[in-house]
Amino acid sequence: MFVKRLEMHGFKSFGDKTIFDLTPGITVVVGPNGCGKSNITDAVRWVLGEQSARHLRGTRMDDIIFGGTANRKPLSFAEVSITLDHSDGALGLDYQEVTVTRRLYRTGESEYLLNKRPCRLKDILELFMDTGIGKEAYSFIGQGRVDEILNARPEERRQIFEEAAGILKYKTRKREAQRRLAETAENLLRVGDIIHELS
Ligand code: ATP
Repeated sequence: MFVKRLEMHGFKSFGDKTIFDLTPGITVVVGPNGCGKSNITDAVRWVLGEQSARHLRGTRMDDIIFGGTANRKPLSFAEVSITLDHSDGALGLDYQEVTVTRRLYRTGESEYLLNKRPCRLKDILELFMDTGIGKEAYSFIGQGRVDEILNARPEERRQIFEEAAGILKYKTRKREAQRRLAETAENLLRVGDIIHELS
């Protein structure tokens, strides 16, 4: 599996539709300070479900929408699509290519698409969990991340190993199941109370 294409429109400094076609191996992006190199990795993080504006170097989520320049008007939406070559079937989907798209409008509306079909953020997060590709995964080591990992508490550092070992998915599902069990237990208590009142 490798990143085959990254398409951005209205994302940060990419006011025009911009497409990167990538090949397996190493890709190096070079350019002067402030030309938008880090915005490319921000776009990858964002399309994979990043929810924190701070992690995208902003203060509000709509900071990622192209804000205009001296000669250009701001845009009303941002859209990023990432296409992965999926000929190895690593994600367990029956497609040769997997494309994830995320859109955000200034009105606050947002949407996710998986191979052009609307889906939930949860679907995207689950799809990439334990693959090393998710927004928090070790595939993306941003500036300062190495220091952050070295200075992290052991429990935080453990998450990275759990993702690599492929157990994060099961831990997440276990937490979800425990939450539902707790909800069901509460509902049962309530039902018990009602039965008691009626009898
Ligand atoms: P450096 O080499 O200094 O790390 P860089 O090439 O990584 O720089 P970025 O940080 O990716 O550059 O891009 C910064 C540029 O993106 C700035 O010029 C900033 O004005 C522009 N930018 C960020 N957000 C937006 C936005 N919403 N609309 C328009 N331009 C934006």
